[in-house]
Amino acid sequence: MKPAAFEYHAPASAEETVALLAEWGDEAKVIAGGQSLVPMLALRLAAYGHLVDLRHVEGLRGIEHRDGRVRIGATTTQTTLQRSPEVGELIPLLVRATPLIGHFQIRNRGTIGGSLAHADAAAEYPAVALTLDAEVEALSVRGRRRIPAADELLTAVTFPVWRGPCGFAIEEFARRSRGLALAGAAVAVGLDGDGRIDRCAIGLFGLGPTPRRAPEAEAAAVGSRPDEQDADALGRLALAGLDSVPSDLHGSADYRRRVGAAMVARAWRRAVREAVDG
Ligand SMILES: Cc1cc2nc3c(=O)[nH]c(=O)nc-3n(C[C@H](O)[C@H](O)[C@H](O)COP(=O)(O)OP(=O)(O)OC[C@H]3O[C@@H](n4cnc5c(N)ncnc54)[C@H](O)[C@@H]3O)c2cc1C
Repeated sequence: MKPAAFEYHAPASAEETVALLAEWGDEAKVIAGGQSLVPMLALRLAAYGHLVDLRHVEGLRGIEHRDGRVRIGATTTQTTLQRSPEVGELIPLLVRATPLIGHFQIRNRGTIGGSLAHADAAAEYPAVALTLDAEVEALSVRGRRRIPAADELLTAVTFPVWRGPCGFAIEEFARRSRGLALAGAAVAVGLDGDGRIDRCAIGLFGLGPTPRRAPEAEAAAVGSRPDEQDADALGRLALAGLDSVPSDLHGSADYRRRVGAAMVARAWRRAVREAVDG
């Protein structure tokens, strides 16, 4: 099938882009790498009268490290992030999540802004952003703000850099190699001077309508020593309070919970090993 006819716009600036979005309202849609949007248009799961292409928009691409934070422009591709030594050093979880996204052809075009705006419940980047408390910048004709909404352009995402002894890991289980995750977990841990866990973030994906954190498991980990924690018990705790776990042809809610707990346990072991061993 072919997409329904649309008018194509290629603005040169973010301001021009949001003016077009304001002018055409629900009829307009931004297109970045097209890796999620184009299949939806081609299958006629969605139709828009106006597509606003971000590829020529100045200032939306690039990686900047300042004041303990890394700001990534929305149209920075997944491959650029995967290959960036700076991101590898400062936000290792993001680089480790990237090879789990589809295939290299998809990552060559797919953008971080597209992944976050599309916000698939099983996608890796939204889960990483949630785990690391990243902030999203959005621009509309009304101005800039930190949380995206329908008629806004996501311009960048900023990640805080974790310092000191810390470790990061992401694990997922998918039915097909490089398919969307049936269940996945991202874990970040930091140690204090005595080797106790003083920071812990656990993000879950594929396990609900949006990625989610596991606050009870995080709280149980903080203050303990890594060797005092039973990874499997922590995984079960992370999933214990989770509601709205989907049940479908790919797996029942109960199955997803068990797989999710195993992914947390696996990611936990790897993250802790990195934090302890450096
Ligand atoms: C076969 C296949 C396998 C895939 N596997 C995975 C996977 O395992 N994990 C995963 O996470 N993804 C997967 N994807 C999706 C892929 O990673 C996309 O690259 C990503 O979801 C969207 O990025 P994009 O730049 O292509 O966005 P587009 O497809 O261009 O846009 C997606 C949506 O985001 C909106 N959007 C894009 N940029 C902005 C912006 N700056 N501001 C506001 N709205 C914006 C668009 O309007 C649209 O609604 C897969 C895709 C395919 C085709």
